[in-house]
Amino acid sequence: MEARIEDKALLPSTMALNLNTIRADFPILSRRLEGERKLVYLDNAATTQKPQVVIDAMNDYYANTNANVHRAVHTLAGEATEGYEASRTGIAAYFGAPRDNLIFTSGTTEAINLVAYGWARANLGKGDVVLTTEMEHHADIVPWQILSKECGIEIRYVPLDRETMTLDMEAFEIAVEDASLVCVVHTSNVLGVRNDVERIIQLAKSRGKGGEGAHVMLDAAQAAPHERIDFPELGCDFLALSAHKMGGPTGIGALFTTTDTMETMKPFISGGDMIETVTLEGSTYQKGPHKFEAGTPRIAEAFGWHAAVQWLDQHNMEDVHAHISSLARWTAKQMRDIPGIRIYGRHDLETTSGVVSFLHEMIHAEDLAHLMDAGGFAVRTGHHCAQPLMEALGVSSTARASFWIYNTMEEAEAFVNHLRGVVERFS
Ligand code: PMP
Repeated sequence: MEARIEDKALLPSTMALNLNTIRADFPILSRRLEGERKLVYLDNAATTQKPQVVIDAMNDYYANTNANVHRAVHTLAGEATEGYEASRTGIAAYFGAPRDNLIFTSGTTEAINLVAYGWARANLGKGDVVLTTEMEHHADIVPWQILSKECGIEIRYVPLDRETMTLDMEAFEIAVEDASLVCVVHTSNVLGVRNDVERIIQLAKSRGKGGEGAHVMLDAAQAAPHERIDFPELGCDFLALSAHKMGGPTGIGALFTTTDTMETMKPFISGGDMIETVTLEGSTYQKGPHKFEAGTPRIAEAFGWHAAVQWLDQHNMEDVHAHISSLARWTAKQMRDIPGIRIYGRHDLETTSGVVSFLHEMIHAEDLAHLMDAGGFAVRTGHHCAQPLMEALGVSSTARASFWIYNTMEEAEAFVNHLRGVVERFS
């Protein structure tokens, strides 16, 4: 049975984007694998492809401007510094924030580590509870485990509601009262679920830490590619994200934090560029984000990320979200009809993201991915750096198809049909 075309009526929002124009901006999308198979890239939750403007911005920096920043007075150094700091301003503005709220990191992982070692280590200790969840990426679990051994903080986990595949908000409401810091994944990289982050922040601020209010860190790695995030409007204290999940280069990301909170943070990576003065007796540090950016930064990557947000800014992110979530919703619905396929997650919600995790009862996920790759379909398999979540789901891994702005209905349809063919061959 072919995927049902009439169900494409579920996809009115797809029409709001000009997919031909969008796809033409991404050179890799016209690649033929081994010279023949058309690439259908469905591993966007791992990393997205890059539009030509991002590649050009990085090439142009290396070809014409390359120099270290914040150091020399020569022309190239001046241009590189200006471009790097203009990137900070432009990227921060995309997230509605002042430039001094943006600390460049290597990505979400380093941003969360900066919260742990820069803020929590300096401000929390024995008796403090860090509340996180069973849905987290390892990047939002392991730093807390290491820190708890070092300074005695207690970690508590809000469970996943196994029935609804969403966060157990009743458990959250109770647990938040003891929390000094709440760390939650904004949008899951496995379940296609967006947490109610507005309510989480409101509860943490009004009831956290016995009514005093808790600090809140959101892992927005999977959210930034799907929706427009306004950091000040959201009202959390820390926002962690990676450029490479939103069309930008690998190796760069950000921690957004407020000026007041930044003042209570201590540097956890130190050396050149983050200091004001150094004597053999001691050092003083720069103010603002520079205090946390020791060493030569990711200069070309900042140029590239700036180009990526400018590219994204041409599109209405509500249309982008509607497009991606309707592709995931349609695909999950079709896949439920394939014998032996089990879907993990929720795809019936307005807030559904672009991720569809699945398994077949007989075919190992790894084999499924190879068989899909043979048809040109790039999907991911594994625990997705979320082993506690896998345990909650009662599996050790899943296969995962994830959509982004450039994926089309035809690709979703071809994916479902190829998967159906693979399953039929094995039955
Ligand atoms: N959190 C989530 C939800 C993610 O999906 C990822 C990337 N898989 C990360 C954190 C870590 O991001 P990075 O590897 O870019 O640091």
